[in-house]
Amino acid sequence: MPVKNALIIGAGIAGIATAIRLAVKGHHVEVFEANNYPGGKLSEFEQDDFRFDAGPSLFTMPQYVDELFTLAGKNPVDFFNYQKLDVVCRYFYEDGTILNAYADQEQFAAEINQQTGEPTASLKKYLKNSANIYSITNHVFLERSLHRLKAYLHGDTVHSVFKFPQIDAFRTMHKANQGFFKDKRLTQFYDRYATYNGSNPYTAPATLNVIPHLEQHYGAYFPVGGMYSIVSSLVKLAESLGVIFHYNAPVNEIILEKKSAKAIKVNNKLISADIIVSNMDIWFTYHGLLKQYPHLFPKKILRQERSSSALIFYWGIKKQFVQLNLHNIFFSADYKAEFDHIWLQKDIYHDPTVYLNISSKCKPDDAPKDCENWFTMINVPANTGQDWDSLINTARQNILTKLSRILGQDISGLILSENILDPRGIESQTSSYQGSLYGTSSNSQFAAFLRHANRSPAIKNLYFCGGSVHPGGGIPLCLLSAKIVSDWIN
Ligand code: FAD
Repeated sequence: MPVKNALIIGAGIAGIATAIRLAVKGHHVEVFEANNYPGGKLSEFEQDDFRFDAGPSLFTMPQYVDELFTLAGKNPVDFFNYQKLDVVCRYFYEDGTILNAYADQEQFAAEINQQTGEPTASLKKYLKNSANIYSITNHVFLERSLHRLKAYLHGDTVHSVFKFPQIDAFRTMHKANQGFFKDKRLTQFYDRYATYNGSNPYTAPATLNVIPHLEQHYGAYFPVGGMYSIVSSLVKLAESLGVIFHYNAPVNEIILEKKSAKAIKVNNKLISADIIVSNMDIWFTYHGLLKQYPHLFPKKILRQERSSSALIFYWGIKKQFVQLNLHNIFFSADYKAEFDHIWLQKDIYHDPTVYLNISSKCKPDDAPKDCENWFTMINVPANTGQDWDSLINTARQNILTKLSRILGQDISGLILSENILDPRGIESQTSSYQGSLYGTSSNSQFAAFLRHANRSPAIKNLYFCGGSVHPGGGIPLCLLSAKIVSDWIN
């Protein structure tokens, strides 16, 4: 197989994973990253004496990271370690209910029975359905390209296609969840999984009820060095395979010759390539790097609705809370109203569901003694020019009031240091169109088919990986996009 000169635009998690896979195949790989650090949304920063993972905090499907080390002939544990969580997340409801989502299914079934009275059989039936959707969709929607004939010729794909009626694509997640549980708190619990890819449970197809399977069957994990160790260990692996990373190297243009990608322009310098892989958001890849070729734009795909974004307060807190866990959720009393605000009014509901992640619970050196690092996040609409400063001021007050009431302590007086990230910052720091976290939303049953393919249908030698293309956003799917791209390249 001839050695190819592969250039990757962006050192997000998918760009790094693609670099590793292509280097393992023997290609010469260089990565060009606009920022002065790798990782994109998966980054970290120090704030006074606190360390924060800036973006993702929930780590599932660690086997996809391990696989990269194994593929390169290395032992994953020499580079990257993680621990399984016994309690995946602690849920606080407005009626005072506290629910521990135990990783062990029997224990979780007993917990929901004790806290809500829901029969354990309901949970078992639910998780069986979730597992069944996974077994049908995994080969078709996740692990292979939807856009390649070869993918449909696999025996397991054909088998899955015959079972499509079982994937529940014609009712919403919320409707399906209501059918499974008598107790509204459990419907709300399972509706929340729509937010794992930035969607709305009141419109997204019930096929997304596959998501709990990834967390509740395969488990949730904490990387020993914090989330950023996923990036640092993979960059180390890539460099050991000869991959060259260029930082502060924003790519300005992809140069075509007769509809074939031939070079990139970085800081006005042309660098030629046999293969170009964009890990940059697909919207900006076209509207930024390929803007001189509008006739080649996949217009319908670029018009798709974006996923939701996030508003995050990074708070250094001068107290430790025994009642809190690594992952905590403080639910809104009216979930429907909250999603209506995100998706219809495109603003922030006065009682948002608050996600609180405290990595110092597992990694004490992330905060000074007797302190905690609070990553306090709410889901918000994608950036379409809202008055964010005003929305943030109000949301900050509402979040503090809610947390102070539920935790029985004035939180504002405990904040030692603060940083805020909103959709505008997410957009400018990672070139994610409208600051969406997961590319396009999955709010319709056609979303999977209208997500951009991993290879350009119109431009030769141009490939795409990352959360804004197939199979979608979130670390596991971004890692799968890298696999699909490298399977395509010989
Ligand atoms: P990105 O992270 O989007 O990075 C793209 C890279 O390309 C960036 O480094 C950018 O600087 C670079 N780039 C862009 N344009 C150029 C250019 N012209 N030239 C050179 N470089 C360029 N996922 C989970 O699995 N679990 C979670 O708990 C979770 N929570 C999240 C919370 C937040 C606040 C955010 C923001 C995301 C979260 N996600 C979560 C989603 C997850 O972070 C993303 O899906 C994933 O990290 C996206 O990776 P990517 O490979 O698409 O690249």
